Amino acid sequence: MAEADFHAGFIAIAGRPNVGKSTLVNALVGHKVSIVTPKPQTTRRRVLGMKTTATAQLIFVDTPGLHTGEGRALNRAMNRSAFAAASEADLCVLVVEALQWEEEDAHALQRLGSLGSPLGLAINKVDKVRPKDRLLPFIEAMQARHDFSFVVPVSAQRRENLAELEKLLTQALPVSPMLFPAEQFTDQDETLRAAEFVREQLILALRQELPYSVAVQIEESVLDGSLLRLSATIWVEREGQKAIVIGGGGGLLKNVGRAARLEMEREFGRKVFLQLWVKVREDWADDERALASLGFEEG
Ligand code: GDP
Ligand code: MG
Repeated sequence: MAEADFHAGFIAIAGRPNVGKSTLVNALVGHKVSIVTPKPQTTRRRVLGMKTTATAQLIFVDTPGLHTGEGRALNRAMNRSAFAAASEADLCVLVVEALQWEEEDAHALQRLGSLGSPLGLAINKVDKVRPKDRLLPFIEAMQARHDFSFVVPVSAQRRENLAELEKLLTQALPVSPMLFPAEQFTDQDETLRAAEFVREQLILALRQELPYSVAVQIEESVLDGSLLRLSATIWVEREGQKAIVIGGGGGLLKNVGRAARLEMEREFGRKVFLQLWVKVREDWADDERALASLGFEEG
């Protein structure tokens, strides 16, 4: 491959919460680089996922969902982080959900459209649309809203039309040598990914009971032969939440620990021993200093 034919660059994946941005990044990268749950605001910080092909290096920036509620410090930090990522990227992709156009989508389009970098549109979750021709008027309406670099329907979950999206992304990126080693697929180390896998299982297990006021911090990570020993603290905001997270007889915490450990073993390719602790730190989501100490300082 001649150097002049190789493309590389940063692609910000943006949009309102819950449209499937993280699922799309994981599907394109082929690894779980970003956690996924049915709850909005699962992704809290910028996550990089890379895919290197024969013709390009696609560096995806998964961003927290863009939302209008800026009341809490955590929400503001997430919006800041998402826009910083989008404004530094070579290319942005707005992700929307097929046949769904909401106030927050309009808000996201308005802000991303004004950044000046090329903006493509991925219409996700088309697996939910039947019959498929119901998509056509939606695609036309979207094309009328903005002069997108491309508009492509996909299903991240079913991996439908992702090769087409990959081709469009490759064409839209600048000619550039690789920016990361070809085998690297994320910028997060194992510790950070481990903390995220715990948070994912907590959100899945708790659903309605706990909003997003939970953070996970890895206290200790030791490689003991081929065994990875991890100890993590789950931070909650209230004593009552602590009881919910632990669950009757410690059952909920045990299940969360087991599911997260299995995910780690699958992704890290080694045995994991995981210990979880639950501690209370009041109002951390409202406190900029507490956020910084939990790793939300960027953006
Ligand atoms: P994000 O908040 O935009 O990052 O969205 P997530 O990737 O966390 O996904 C939110 C929810 O939508 C999860 O329950 C996903 O399983 C679901 N989802 C994502 N992509 C698809 C898709 O292509 N089809 C369907 N039916 N569901 C999807
Ligand atoms: Mg996400």
